[in-house]
Amino acid sequence: MIQVENLHKKFGGFSAVDGASLTIETGSITGLIGPNGAGKSTLFNVIAGVHQPTSGRVIMDGEDITGLPPHALFHKGLLRTFQLAHEFSTMTVRENLMMVPASQAGESIINTWFGRGRIRDEERALRAKADEVLEFLTIDHLSDEKAGNLSGGQKKLLELGRTMMVDAKIVFLDEVGAGVNRTLLMTIADAITRLNKERGYTFCVIEHDMDFIGKLCDPVIVMAEGKVLAQGSADSIMQNEAVIEAYLGR
Ligand code: ADP
Ligand code: MG
Repeated sequence: MIQVENLHKKFGGFSAVDGASLTIETGSITGLIGPNGAGKSTLFNVIAGVHQPTSGRVIMDGEDITGLPPHALFHKGLLRTFQLAHEFSTMTVRENLMMVPASQAGESIINTWFGRGRIRDEERALRAKADEVLEFLTIDHLSDEKAGNLSGGQKKLLELGRTMMVDAKIVFLDEVGAGVNRTLLMTIADAITRLNKERGYTFCVIEHDMDFIGKLCDPVIVMAEGKVLAQGSADSIMQNEAVIEAYLGR
């Protein structure tokens, strides 16, 4: 689905991504791991159109999507999750989901030229969709809770929920388990697995928890110092000499 070819991203003279090439297969849950500062988030940001690459290409289903802005990628079904913006924390969980098509697509789904009845229909449809998403993620009991009151893990589920409000094909999740308790981490893993199996989502997941990566991801890609170091099953990765060296030093 995604091919990254010899991608470079420099900040000043520093190469955060230094000639990375990798492939994300359609239907996979691909893991991306590596020491802090390896360039994982920067790679995500370049793929998702947040940063322009210094050089190199990103191909999606055979089409060159290098440097397209996030809203254009959004229309192609490529989404990167972001932590909840501050202003969304005072809205309810359901309202957060209902906001998504308008805020992320760069155009309002409730367009001004729709008649009043039409707006009510759109709102009803959005609300029904949001409730379906909340049920799927098993957080429907939190529908009317202010998003700012959610735990870290519940916020991650809500981020995942925002990708479900649109027809995502591939979703990039950055440090999905950071600050999340064990139980919720497994709920998130379960939601990712079901979205993959039942709805055909492809995922690329950055995470430090190797237990989570090992259970969820195949293949796993390892980055270090801006480059792809290895790719393979979680088991083979953990036995790879170069990978062990990158994590533990010489
Ligand atoms: P990772 O997600 O693997 O921990 P990052 O992609 O966040 O790594 O960062 C890779 C390197 O690039 C780090 O050394 C970081 O300090 C640097 N970096 C990331 N973003 C910027 C930026 N906007 N400006 C300057 N340096 C950056
Ligand atoms: Mg990062």
